[in-house]
Order: sequence, then C-alpha cells, then structure tokens
Amino acid sequence: MTQTIEPATYEVHRGEVTPLVSESDLPATGHFIANQFTADAGRDRIDVVNPADGSVVSTVIVGTEEDVDRAVAAALAAQSDWARLVPKERAEILHRIADRVVDNADLLARLESANTGKPLPVSHDDIAQTIDTFRFMAGAARSTTSQAAATYSEGHLSVVLREPLGVIGVVTPWNYPLLMAAWKIAPILAAGNTMVIKPSEQTPLTTLKFAELVADLLPAGVFNVVTGRGSVVGSRLSGHPQIDMIALTGSVGSGKAVARSASESLKRVHLELGGKAPVVIFDDARLDEAASALRTAAFWNAGQECGAACRVLVHESVAARFTELLVEAVGSLVVGEPGGGETIEIGPMISEAHYDRVCGYLDRAREQGIRAAIGGTPLPGAGYFIAPTVFVDVPDGAECSREEIFGPVVTIETFTDEDDAIARANGTPYGLAASVWTENARRAHDVPSRLDFGTVWVNDHLVLASEVPWGGFKGSGYGRDLSIYALDDYSRTKHVMHNQQR
Ligand code: NAD
Repeated sequence: MTQTIEPATYEVHRGEVTPLVSESDLPATGHFIANQFTADAGRDRIDVVNPADGSVVSTVIVGTEEDVDRAVAAALAAQSDWARLVPKERAEILHRIADRVVDNADLLARLESANTGKPLPVSHDDIAQTIDTFRFMAGAARSTTSQAAATYSEGHLSVVLREPLGVIGVVTPWNYPLLMAAWKIAPILAAGNTMVIKPSEQTPLTTLKFAELVADLLPAGVFNVVTGRGSVVGSRLSGHPQIDMIALTGSVGSGKAVARSASESLKRVHLELGGKAPVVIFDDARLDEAASALRTAAFWNAGQECGAACRVLVHESVAARFTELLVEAVGSLVVGEPGGGETIEIGPMISEAHYDRVCGYLDRAREQGIRAAIGGTPLPGAGYFIAPTVFVDVPDGAECSREEIFGPVVTIETFTDEDDAIARANGTPYGLAASVWTENARRAHDVPSRLDFGTVWVNDHLVLASEVPWGGFKGSGYGRDLSIYALDDYSRTKHVMHNQQR
C-alpha cells in the first residue's frame, strides 16, 4: 500500500510581472496567402488565450470557405514552378528556413509558451526539433530511393518516378503548435507540393509568426495559412476539390470528420490521431530506471502528448515497489507558469474546456473508488493547472485507463503473465505508441512484435528522431510523420514503361 501525497504538495510557481512577449513580438493576424497577410479589419475574431492566467494574448480572424478557396488558388498557381525545382534547390530553401528559425528561436519559444502556457524548456525543445525536421527533410529530399529502372517485362524499360501530389491541406493541433506544423510543412514542401495550413484556433501564433519569418524565402503561394475553426476552415480544406491530400494531426473525432468529407473527392488522407500508450513493465525490469523515465515521458507537456506514457501495466509481483518509486519521482515535479523560470516542468491545460474535461476524468475516477497515490485534483489559483496524478490499483477496463485523458495523469494496472500483458496492452482502440520494460532479450524482441502500435520502445519511452517514422495503427490513424516515409506519403508513384523493341 503506497502513501497518498496530498495535492497541496504542488505549488503553482507564478511568473514575474514582465510578460513573455511584447506587442511587437506578436504576428500579423490576417491570413497568409501568396506571401501577404490579408486585411483583417472588420472581420470576426477569435481570442487567443494564455492558459497560465486566462489573459487574452491576441486575436485571429475567423476564416471562411472563401478564404480557403483564395488560399487554394494561390497554392495551385504556385504548384508547377515549385515542383519543377530540382531537389537541391528546394533543399537549399528548407535549410534557409531552418536558419531563420534558428535566428528567431528565442522569440518563437516565448511566443509558444505565451500561447500554450508550456514551460520554456519544452518550447525550446519544440523549436530545436522544428529546426531538425527542416534540416532532415532538406537532406532526405536529395536522396530519395526508389525501385531501380530496369527491364522487368521483356523488351520494356520501367522507370518509377516519385512525383509531388499537388496541393496539400493541413490541419494542426494545439499541443505542439509549431512542431506539428513543421512535421507537415517540411516533407510536404520537400516533396514538391504546395500547401494551405490551418493551425488550431487556440494556438495560431507561432504558425503565423513562422509565415512572417519565411515570407521572403519561399515563392508566393507555396505556403499559405488560413486561421479559423475546424468546422469551417478544416472542413473546407478536407472537402476542397482542388486539394489532393488532407493531413490532420488531432483527435479521433476530427480525423473521422476529415476522412468523411475527403471521401467525396477521393483525396488522400493522412491522419495522426490520439493515443493511450501502454507501458508494460515486467518483473525483471529495472524499476528505478522505468520510474525515472516515466517522470518525463508521462508528464512532458503536462501529459498533453499523444505518445505520453500514461497507462502503466506492471507485473503484479513488482507493482508495489514500482508504484512507490513512480510516486516519489512524480512528487518532485515543478508546476508553474512559463514565466516562473527554467525549473518549471509542468504547465497548465491548454484551455478552460480541456481543464474541465480532465477534471471530469479525475472526478469520475474518484467516484469509481480509484485512488490517487499523488495528485488527483486541480490546483488552486488562476490558470488551468492540474496536479500531476498517479491512479493506483486501477481495475481492468476503467474509464481513466481506457480513454485518452491528455493531461498529467498516469494509471497503474497489474498483469499476471506475458500473454495477459500483451492482450491488455492491445485491448485499446488506439495504436500509436507503447513501451516494454525488461532485461530479458527474448521478451525484448518478442513482445514488441506482438504489440499493435506504430512505435514500441524497449526500456525507454517518448524518444523521437527525425530519421524514424512516427504514426499510428488502428484508431490512431494512418500515414507517417518524420523520416523518408513522410516524404513517400506526400508524393505519388508513377510507372513509366518504354517499349524498346522497335
Ligand atoms: P482537435 O481534433 O480538437 O483539433 C485538431 C485540429 O483539427 C484543430 O485545428 C481543429 O480546428 C481541427 N478540426 C476540428 N474539427 C475539424 C473538422 N471537422 N474538420 C477539419 N478540422 C477539424 O485536436 P486537439 O484537441 O487540437 O489536439 C489534441 C489531439 O491531437 C489529441 O487527441 C492528440 O492525441 C492528438 N495528437 C496526435 C498526434 C500524433 O502525432 N498522433 C500529435 C499531437 C496531437
């Protein structure tokens, strides 16, 4: 039986008076179409809120279907010239974009933190990964591999071409606003497509700032931004007859809506959706290493992370010891506003609505008799802060261990043997990521091969690299971000066969 640590253990560290961003740091707030910000006077607007204190940071305009159509027209007009550039030319532009992000890394990180409330080190990590994504795609675009040109049918030479798809629509979420955009922008442009992106209505600022920063680097129309709501802008992008593919990172519900409206024009669909990553800890695992890794992997970005290590399945013989170690590690997490300094590790939930949603999960778990060994409640004061929480002795099938909470909440269940662990880990509609913790070499190979998840870590969790693919199975969607697989997704294969018998 583990001791319960009172939620009051967590104090919300508040920032200094100085705001993270000044008026001059904010981006222009029109749409970005053909390298110009559109006039925004007199348009309906959406407040952009800082969730650390509920203040309004800026506003953006509510995009309409006509706005999307204008952006698509600009992207179409730019498409053939952009596609005609040789990979080296496009790669050089992507490197220049990366350089521009490097030069403005501090500004972009402060802007991201001011809009999402995430700790500054998390924002800096997002920006560093954004830069690496552009650099990787710049290199990968120049070294694509394909089937060898050869004679496969007697007297005929086959050449397999990789071509851009055309114009791609992109819809991004609020949890890593610029990074999730970069995961799309870099491979889409590298592969020779042009695009229209709709950032989350809650977090549009870094995408707009990025547009402002790269406006002089890209030909007009190659990259366009339309702000607004998913139900209008996102829906028009997915239904637009001249868009060749729609790529969405977001919730399962939005993924289904996008796939439905894309079906009318039979456009390609690329979906990076939710997750509920199981963390399978065997009795021979190094429990201290697992607990220390989960302190980060479960709580990074306040658990608002699709691959978060949020669902622990631990062998019954070591459950008590592991729970003790995890609760101790989680107890040292530092919660606060980004302005509270570099030591802050956990920020607020993105919005009041999401905070209410997470609180609902906490309340219902408590009503079901599930005990929080630490946390389990919201934190008092301004902003949408939730105490880092570990629910213990969670029964099989409980709501909190089944559904994506997307907050700083870990559930611990136990299993009896390997087959039980695998069946329970796979017993979820999601299939994004999982981890396996063991010192046994057979298990370390065998168990990942039996898990239905797009990424499986062994003795670690939430480690990503630009060279390796990221994406889900089952209800977590299809298509891959990062790696050469993303470049493949954003291009099409054409077979040209030459009759050489004449
Ligand atoms: P969300 O689905 O609410 O919103 C994502 C985007 O979709 C927003 O821009 C929104 O405006 C838009 N949208 C909403 N309805 C739409 C519609 N009908 N048509 C087109 N667009 C629509 O998701 P969120 O709350 O912003 O982000 C959290 C979700 O994203 C979580 O489920 C998380 O797991 C997922 N996510 C997945 C990954 C991944 O790589 N798999 C990465 C980050 C986030």
